[in-house]
Amino acid sequence: MGVNMQKSAVQPASVNDPGAYLETFSGSKGLEQAEPLIFERGDYDKTGVDLPEPKGRTSRLSGLEREDAIGLPGLSEPETMRHYVRLSRKNYAIDLGLYPLGSCTMKHNPRLNEKVARLPGFADLHPLQPQSTVQGAYELIGELAHWLVTLTGAHAVAMSPKAGAHGELCGMMAIRAALDARGETKRRRVLVPESAHGTNPATAVQCGFTTDEIPADKTGRVDMEAFRAKLGDDVAGIMLTNPNTCGLFERDIIAIADAIHEAGGYFYCDGANLNAIMGRVRPGDLGVDAMHINLHKTFSTPHGGGGPGAGPTVFSEALAPYAPVPYVEKDGDSWRMVENADEAEGEPFGRMVAFHGQMGMFTRALSYMMSHGSDGLRQAAEDAVLNANYVLARLKHVMTPAFEGTCMHEALFDDRFLKDTGVSTLDFAKAMIDEGYHPMTMYFPLVVHGAMLIEPTETESRAGLDRFCETLEALALAAKAGETERFRAAPIHAPTKRLDETRAARSPVLRWTPPAEHPAAAE
Ligand SMILES: *Cc1c(COP(=O)(O)O)cnc(C)c1O
Repeated sequence: MGVNMQKSAVQPASVNDPGAYLETFSGSKGLEQAEPLIFERGDYDKTGVDLPEPKGRTSRLSGLEREDAIGLPGLSEPETMRHYVRLSRKNYAIDLGLYPLGSCTMKHNPRLNEKVARLPGFADLHPLQPQSTVQGAYELIGELAHWLVTLTGAHAVAMSPKAGAHGELCGMMAIRAALDARGETKRRRVLVPESAHGTNPATAVQCGFTTDEIPADKTGRVDMEAFRAKLGDDVAGIMLTNPNTCGLFERDIIAIADAIHEAGGYFYCDGANLNAIMGRVRPGDLGVDAMHINLHKTFSTPHGGGGPGAGPTVFSEALAPYAPVPYVEKDGDSWRMVENADEAEGEPFGRMVAFHGQMGMFTRALSYMMSHGSDGLRQAAEDAVLNANYVLARLKHVMTPAFEGTCMHEALFDDRFLKDTGVSTLDFAKAMIDEGYHPMTMYFPLVVHGAMLIEPTETESRAGLDRFCETLEALALAAKAGETERFRAAPIHAPTKRLDETRAARSPVLRWTPPAEHPAAAE
């Protein structure tokens, strides 16, 4: 998708019509620079570095040396630099503006965390270094583990899982190990509310369980009657998110925990939304047996696009013995990493990762926790809930909240306010791009029609929230006033216009195909 110089040539339009100059000669629009792919820009015969041929080199590749040209585009350093800086300017980022994605908590990552994570003593470690040389890192992991256990009212924590979904796997494997130890190999049914994140049923199935869906009631929470009706002696447990993916607190959580325990099952809590309740409620006190914490959602480090994640998983006393290795332990004056199941206390179900977990994220999370203190963490949760309710209250007159009452950390709307306007949730989200905002989460949770899930997070100012709400209000009014074209054509100010989403999903082009004159680039 290069710059089409022909297309941007002057149109024979009226010089008095400013619209005639919407296309420029260069394809750039002011500071919005047109930027072809690096493969289209680069010269395949050119190299960006000028190194002499090495002399007297003996190959150690045993005849597997590349014989053809490598087919990489050659650009000078300044050209390469400009290419990537221009690309980065097309990106929406948390450092650029409000990021309203819900169920995701793309939040502020204080620069202090970055500074700490880059300290050479942490950043330059190698996981195979002798234990005596990484005592500080072990202490950091041990301290973070201590605070995670304290904050959640749990008994133990496995630090190694590398994402929320990986933490779910860790928790469910511990549940399976505990059931097996009880000789209860028939308990294989896991109850999952219909609003659950897709990773929950996927995890249960991955662990050899079957899933059984619990419907939601009118208020968006677990239907208690339907839940009780599903209990039985083949139930392994429940996987429940609290606050749930509709942004609502499951008020019956203690009754749910009691009932599942009474039925002989375990309570897995999806802790992705812990940022709404940390410092206010300890999940351990609610009867939770296992819960992952997405460090990248609750303790800074904005994620997305496959960025780093860490999903430490906390356990109740009942499940703690089955937690996986490795874990750090204070041994007299020093720390050690317990690596093998046979030297561990309890009966670990095994090991999930090659090394110890995501050190860079541990460092950021501990830095975030210590710089906030317990009162600061509690305030972050309270402010996240306050900001979401502010958005809900400001917009409920023009948009339609999916459920009645207040919300937790995210405000959920459905598409009833767009009824008969010819504008869909997707169109509405695209129009937000023209207004300079990243769209909110769309069409999730699935239980709400045309869902729009907005999570402002705790770091947005009142003025920033006002500007955002005014924009959404204006868009909602424009839709109702019949300005359908504005939405159908959106985004018109973005570098890339409306995509053919169906074709992108059905026949995605995942690979750049080189123009015929550069056959070497085919590799
Ligand atoms: C994000 C999320 C997950 C999965 O976490 P990852 O770190 O992305 O694997 C699971 N459940 C809920 C409710 C989530 O929001």
